[in-house]
Amino acid sequence: MNCPRCGKEGAKTGKTWKFGLFDVTGYRCAACEKSFNAYYRDGNFSHTVPKPK
Ligand SMILES: [Zn+2]
Repeated sequence: MNCPRCGKEGAKTGKTWKFGLFDVTGYRCAACEKSFNAYYRDGNFSHTVPKPK
């Protein structure tokens, strides 16, 4: 999963959780040292938080 801030590949933190209808996977970007979350609905990628610029 690419970082929404800088576009580099982020690494999974290993954390997953539910957010309403979404399954969320936590990522951390080594390039900008920030975390972001990927949201999936019914197994399909929906969006990241924060959203890409
Ligand atoms: Zn980044």
